[in-house]
Amino acid sequence: MEHVFFPPLSRVAVCGGTHGNELTGVYMVREMQKQTMDKDGPVSVTAVLANPPAVDACRRYIDTDLNRCFTDALLSAPLTDSSPYELRRAHELNAQFGPKGSKEAVDLLCDLHNTTANMGLSLILYSLDWITLHICKYLQSKISSPVRVIQLNIPISEVYSLEAVGKHGLAIEIGPQPHGVVRADIYNMMKKAVDLTLEWLQKFNTGSIFEGGEVEAFTFAKSIDYPRDPTTGEITAAIHPQLQDNDFKLLQPGDPVFMSFSRETVKYEGEPLYPFFVNECAYYEKKIAFHLAQRKNLSIPTISVKRD
Ligand SMILES: [Zn+2]
Repeated sequence: MEHVFFPPLSRVAVCGGTHGNELTGVYMVREMQKQTMDKDGPVSVTAVLANPPAVDACRRYIDTDLNRCFTDALLSAPLTDSSPYELRRAHELNAQFGPKGSKEAVDLLCDLHNTTANMGLSLILYSLDWITLHICKYLQSKISSPVRVIQLNIPISEVYSLEAVGKHGLAIEIGPQPHGVVRADIYNMMKKAVDLTLEWLQKFNTGSIFEGGEVEAFTFAKSIDYPRDPTTGEITAAIHPQLQDNDFKLLQPGDPVFMSFSRETVKYEGEPLYPFFVNECAYYEKKIAFHLAQRKNLSIPTISVKRD
């Protein structure tokens, strides 16, 4: 594959507390804010709490999910007196770190999340982006435990999450951790991922050449809801014990996926796919029991910084 050159990546935003009860990013951002950042170095880093009122309340959000507010349509719609708090905040963050899709936007926006699912360290991308895929490859090479790459494949105008505001965007998602709880092992994993991301940026900006190759990625295929009572809408089953905590283990037709509260097993029907976000607490309201993905190898080119 060819050698691709990119301009330096000098402005980086690290955000936490986009979901106010996902505490690893909240405490990491507060810690980063205590340190004096070297603004004149090859990488200038701004650390920000994205949703402070939700952090104070230790809730995912106040009025609506902030991490669904960054589509082009929502960012361009005028605010009114009745606009939800998070939509106002999305406009502020877009002004501070974007505007989304503009040359003024930060070079990389890294958003820190936790999940109650047993996903370990996962890196979520919305498109095929050589910069973020190289960061993923670097983290995979430096971290001994699995580092999964999840590609959502959504047109940029419809990408709803905060990281879409940067020229390049990356969500770091680590679990399992209950929302409202902070665990040292998860914190250490997040710290390592953020430090290695900043290390990669320093190396990139100072002229390192990153060889191309293949990156294994899980490409979003579809979401599965819980079985529900057609009259009340209440769920009638839980994730089956054989699926619980088995994120990224291939699900075959006939494998148990739910156990009803009358103790009947519901089996998976469909092509073999990889489950993730299994039993994520915040997804009950979104009617998602788990997502399914295909596993692919993505080819990425050799990249380095463009010199004037
Ligand atoms: Zn989150």
